[in-house]
Amino acid sequence: AKSAGGNRYELADPEADARAITRHGLTTALPAALDRGEFFIEYQPLVHLGDGSVRGAEALVRWLHPQHGILGPDRFIPLAEHTGLIVPLGRWVMEQSVRQARTWRERHGDGCPLRINVNLSPCQLTHPGLVQDTVDILERAGVQPDALCLEVTESALIGADDDLLKPLRRLAEMGVDIALDDFGTGYSNLANLRRLPVSVLKLDRSFTRGMQQFPADPVDLKIVEGIVSLAHSLDLAVTVEGVETGAQAEQLRILGCDTAQGWYYARPGPPERLHELALADAAG
Ligand code: C2E
Ligand code: CA
Ligand code: CA
Ligand code: CA
Repeated sequence: AKSAGGNRYELADPEADARAITRHGLTTALPAALDRGEFFIEYQPLVHLGDGSVRGAEALVRWLHPQHGILGPDRFIPLAEHTGLIVPLGRWVMEQSVRQARTWRERHGDGCPLRINVNLSPCQLTHPGLVQDTVDILERAGVQPDALCLEVTESALIGADDDLLKPLRRLAEMGVDIALDDFGTGYSNLANLRRLPVSVLKLDRSFTRGMQQFPADPVDLKIVEGIVSLAHSLDLAVTVEGVETGAQAEQLRILGCDTAQGWYYARPGPPERLHELALADAAG
């Protein structure tokens, strides 16, 4: 049962919670949660592997549930996708993130390189308002389209027809970057990459995992090497996720990956944290 008006927030034991909270309960609580402002965003830095500078951040949404504490996106994004709430929730995430990018740029001064990556669900891709909503959000915040990168999973684009790609093409023409997220998990036809309006490949964490030992598994090395060279030959930048150790970062840098994200650099955190990291590296 819900304790109406309860405003006590506590961190929950995620294991116990997983058992206790029904999908149904969370699903029905979602719309009111958006109205009440229970969602918040953490930002995880994207770091240039060549010089270690912070280039931007990925926006990752969380739910501060009044009874159950902080819930990660894996707990509620699938539910929001199922009910369609992902469209207004995703719009809210984009609006907050773009405004945050604006704040970073203002506080960082001229030539601020900080860009913002926002995840898009397949349902947002097929929603007719996507392009106009994005234009409106950028305009309201006074942010240039090239400060925004939209991440779309590889699986959402497998077998994509022209109708699905059209909005992404329009966004790409405006200058918004499109990244292919979780790349390498979807068994897509590599030749298909040419057809997609993407400018960044985000290599899935499963590849990074293979670089944990030093030297890494030679087969993993070959695969990543092949993907990087293919990506670069198509003018795509390569971002790696899930970098947890310096050894992984070093091997991925040697393999030619461009940008990295992971606990080795920073966990997802509040927006002020990113600003500090970016300023620290501007200072040397
Ligand atoms: P993703 O897009 O693949 O995001 C990366 C996930 O890896 C994040 O999990 C992040 O916290 C985690 N991560 C980052 N660095 C490391 C690391 O070094 N090691 C390990 N083990 N994990 C790391 P998170 O925040 O739980 O997000 C999970 C997924 O939820 C995301 O996967 C994304 O698909 C989805 N998601 C998050 N925010 C949004 C959103 O606003 N909209 C939509 N549609 N999906 C979202
Ligand atoms: Ca992502
Ligand atoms: Ca990913
Ligand atoms: Ca992932």
